[in-house]
Amino acid sequence: MDEQTPRPGAGGTKDVVCALCGTRAGSENAPPTWLCSVENGSRRYFCDDCARTHIRAIEGRLDSAWW
Ligand SMILES: [Zn+2]
Repeated sequence: MDEQTPRPGAGGTKDVVCALCGTRAGSENAPPTWLCSVENGSRRYFCDDCARTHIRAIEGRLDSAWW
């Protein structure tokens, strides 16, 4: 297990950013309306707009490179 768990208030600023449009969530945790997809061992987040647009591809477990 090599997953890193961000610690709130630890000083690191690693905002969640939409992998498609670059929208920032403004926090380390994605809003509940965002989608999280694991691709190639790393997590990607998609904002609600992009999630809605690409929900089929996401549910089909296609890497975003195919979109
Ligand atoms: Zn987006």
